[in-house]
Amino acid sequence: QPVLAVVGRPNVGKSTLVNRILGRREAVVQDIPGVTRDRVAYDALWSGRRFTVLDTGGWEPGLEGLPGAIAAQAEYAMTHADAVVVVVDATVGATSTDEAVAKVLRRSKKPVILVANKVDDERLLADTAALWSLGLGEPFPVSALHGRNSGDLLDAILAALPETPKENFGPTGGPRRVALVGKPNVGKSSLLNRLTGENRAVVDSVAGTTVDPVDSLVELDGQVWRFVDTAGLRKRVNFASGTEYYASLRTKAAIESAEVAIVLLDAAEPIAEQDLRVLSMVVDSGRACVLAFNKWDLVDEERRHQLDKELDRGLVRVPWAERVNVSALTGRSVRKLAPALRTALDSWDKRVSTGQLNSWLSDLVAATPPPVRGGKQPKILFATQAQTRPPTIVLFTSGFLEAGYRRFVERKFREEFGFVGSPVRISVRVRE
Ligand code: GDP
Repeated sequence: QPVLAVVGRPNVGKSTLVNRILGRREAVVQDIPGVTRDRVAYDALWSGRRFTVLDTGGWEPGLEGLPGAIAAQAEYAMTHADAVVVVVDATVGATSTDEAVAKVLRRSKKPVILVANKVDDERLLADTAALWSLGLGEPFPVSALHGRNSGDLLDAILAALPETPKENFGPTGGPRRVALVGKPNVGKSSLLNRLTGENRAVVDSVAGTTVDPVDSLVELDGQVWRFVDTAGLRKRVNFASGTEYYASLRTKAAIESAEVAIVLLDAAEPIAEQDLRVLSMVVDSGRACVLAFNKWDLVDEERRHQLDKELDRGLVRVPWAERVNVSALTGRSVRKLAPALRTALDSWDKRVSTGQLNSWLSDLVAATPPPVRGGKQPKILFATQAQTRPPTIVLFTSGFLEAGYRRFVERKFREEFGFVGSPVRISVRVRE
């Protein structure tokens, strides 16, 4: 999605303006001179269009001094954003720092909107006019604090940003939520970059900063998807030893906030313990799942045979997951991910009516009855799909059903009703 950067000196009201743009009231971070902040990205929505707001707040008065730091901020904004808002304090006028920023931005080919902030009443409009001197076009008077003109400003911002792709809403009312997970170095950030296009990989987050969980909206195959919690993926983070625990917590959190996970595996290497742990997290969470074997460009005939053998043993928990062989490097088959995600989510959402379920099940049980236990033949009395997301079948029985038979029922159920890419849970209630 398009990116808007907001730049300006400390104390001009940047954070307040960012909050206005985001439509929230509380100040996230105050503009206190000397406080170091990092670039922070937020999701904004206005008139049905989504964009990212990059709050380039970090400054470190010191070595190069404030003007240098803010000019560097502007440079960053210019290269990473689709449009730049530069905020100036109309009650103060253009300072030398503002001029340094303006000088950088005048070189920009991207649209620049000059915002004259703190124009709390009409009398300050004259001060606004003085800001023409910055050479950034007409100053846009607003009061971020009182909200004056902020609707007009948002309209101007939308006009300056490139068109956003049309959203395709899932049953939850937003783009479907996707977690991109896998062990380190499997190619997650490479794949994300491939999917979003290089110039969208914009967010730097530095350890120790409180950053909102940042998602990426990605258009694949004519549909917009929300890749959750991608802030950490966009930048190469060199994990020091001992942080694997946190990496795994992060993976878990991403899976849990998603509806479907793309589990990325390295096709060039043997399936590892760590891959299986990630897979288990996905299955246990009940999310839908697509397996993507990355680095397929490195796979030769021999490795391919080897992999076939590993799959039989390695993927016992997810025989139902669709597999896609991709290369983030070359882009191979990356387009196949969207149909696989759709299939998985269709199954995840799907409900089989109680009538259909029971008529199918009675035929199945008649042909292959559950194994006798303790001299007794357990009967399946009734079945119902109690839940979707993931599909959960409750079997009411007259006795214990062995795990093997439950797996058999699950497999046949998948075949009959076409459940692919989603866990199906079978729960048994024994009626005495
Ligand atoms: P992450 O830790 O999962 O985010 O992994 P990265 O995206 O940083 O990738 C790790 C390394 O694998 C980098 O050196 C990438 O260039 C490389 N890589 C990623 N995808 C591919 C691929 O499809 N083929 C090959 N040959 N290398 C890849």
